[in-house]
Amino acid sequence: MANKQFDVLVIGGGPGGYVAAIRAAQLGFSTACIESESYADPKGEVRLGGTCLNVGCIPSKALLRSSELYDEASHAFVMHGITAESVTMDVPSMVRRKDNIVTQLTAGIKGLFKKNKITLLAGLGSFAGRENEFWQVAVTGKDGGSEVVEAKHVIVATGSSPRHLDGIPVDNKTICDNVGALSLDAVPKRLGVIGAGVIGLELGSVWKRLGSDVTILEALPDFLAGADPAITKEAWKTFTQKQGLKIHLGAKITSVKQTKKSIKLDYELGDGTFTLECDKLIVSVGRVPNTAGLGCDNVGLKLDERGRIEVNDHCQTNLENVWAVGDVIRGPMLAHKGMEEGVMVAELIAGQAGHVNYDTIPYVIYTHPEIAWVGKTETQLKNEAIEYRTGQIPFMANGRALGQGDTTGFVKMLACAKTDRILGVHVIGVNASELIAEAVVAMEFGAVAEDIARICHAHPTLSEVMHEAALAVDKRPLHF
Ligand code: FAD
Ligand code: NAD
Repeated sequence: MANKQFDVLVIGGGPGGYVAAIRAAQLGFSTACIESESYADPKGEVRLGGTCLNVGCIPSKALLRSSELYDEASHAFVMHGITAESVTMDVPSMVRRKDNIVTQLTAGIKGLFKKNKITLLAGLGSFAGRENEFWQVAVTGKDGGSEVVEAKHVIVATGSSPRHLDGIPVDNKTICDNVGALSLDAVPKRLGVIGAGVIGLELGSVWKRLGSDVTILEALPDFLAGADPAITKEAWKTFTQKQGLKIHLGAKITSVKQTKKSIKLDYELGDGTFTLECDKLIVSVGRVPNTAGLGCDNVGLKLDERGRIEVNDHCQTNLENVWAVGDVIRGPMLAHKGMEEGVMVAELIAGQAGHVNYDTIPYVIYTHPEIAWVGKTETQLKNEAIEYRTGQIPFMANGRALGQGDTTGFVKMLACAKTDRILGVHVIGVNASELIAEAVVAMEFGAVAEDIARICHAHPTLSEVMHEAALAVDKRPLHF
């Protein structure tokens, strides 16, 4: 029997892959998507959505919200005159709610595949060869059964997996990566976290709010090295002093011992040696690209020095009509970055002018307060010897923030000293994840700070702080 043939074959059904498949189908291509059976729905059927929907963005934000509400009921209601006695958290209910959201959204992607007539192939995709204009890809199911399908274009979107450390075996029960850390069945009394990156801070916050004594060991001497220094300073103060997260920077873990009762981590810090004893441990030390089993060697698909698939600015690999998007290639490991690349590649295949502006990709950390930024930090501008002006306004001066009882943080805008063009915007505060969108739009349209300063912002809203920060660039804030 002849192999099935498609115009476009996507390997991996995460945000990069499923969006690429939908856009390719919209553009009229016969499209298939291979998704390994890493995630299964309650019926045991393969689930789409990848890391993001199953064990990443979506479930973590569901738990962050639940824990935030618990924290507010326990500590913040009182300032409004509300008494909430004996507030309790039923962890299994919280986890069930999170699981239901995941089920709903992953099923939704399957619905979108049906609507767009995309063929879903369950199994592990692996390059097998090329015949004439068709790439051949083997799809191997869990049961060992295999078929070969063919396509003119292949988009690799196999994503990433958690990096583990030698000598620290992850069982996702006691020692967890993101998968286990999103499904703990009770609040651990003492929680250890290795890595003060995005996952360490977000998931550390969840369990801290629910009552864990959380200690984070970070190898680097700097905290949130990629963020603007003003943000880092404010975040450090808030997380460690106000919220009581214990974060040790420059910690070198020398041994980890697990007994029936606990986990003991020996680490060096400065001139001293210390031991951290905890009941659960989260290992969140970055992620590695998924290329094992992809058959790269079978067809000569080139990887870079960090094991990622090598691509140019348009996500083209070294092979004709083979593309790669998302976490498996260079750039930040962010769902929205992968999705944009998926759209770009589908449009380029269709002969359109697909494009991703990597300079305006927003970054968000969903702690409380939230942290969000777009563009350059002050450190980058100094290193690049770019002259700039700064406008920084605290939420403390904003009526809406006061009314909401949440005034931590600020908006900081950096604009070119010569042209006034916005070069970077950094927000720490409530709803920073939503506020940053205005700055992204402004930068995408090449706006200057004066443009934001002259836009009417609704009153009273948190967005007025963005307005005031733009005015402050020109040293004329109205309310500060
Ligand atoms: P993935 O989502 O990893 O999907 C790849 C898919 O390919 C998987 O389903 C995998 O099973 C499949 N696959 C792999 N190999 C094969 C193969 N050979 N054949 C067939 N299928 C294969 N990003 C954000 O932007 N915002 C957030 O708030 C956020 N929160 C996060 C929280 C956590 C805890 C984690 C772990 C990540 C978070 N991320 C967040 C990152 C985000 O999840 C990733 O950037 C995003 O999922 C990457 O998308 P992708 O499509 O490239 O890969
Ligand atoms: P990360 O790169 O954000 O942080 C990892 C941290 O671990 C770093 O600070 C690193 O210095 C530290 N580290 C590495 N080895 C160590 C060791 N041996 N001992 C102690 N510390 C060590 O990675 P992550 O937190 O695992 O998250 C993975 C990716 O997922 C991120 O790159 C991020 O893009 C994505 N993510 C995004 C969001 C979001 O957008 N809100 C949320 C979660 C995850």
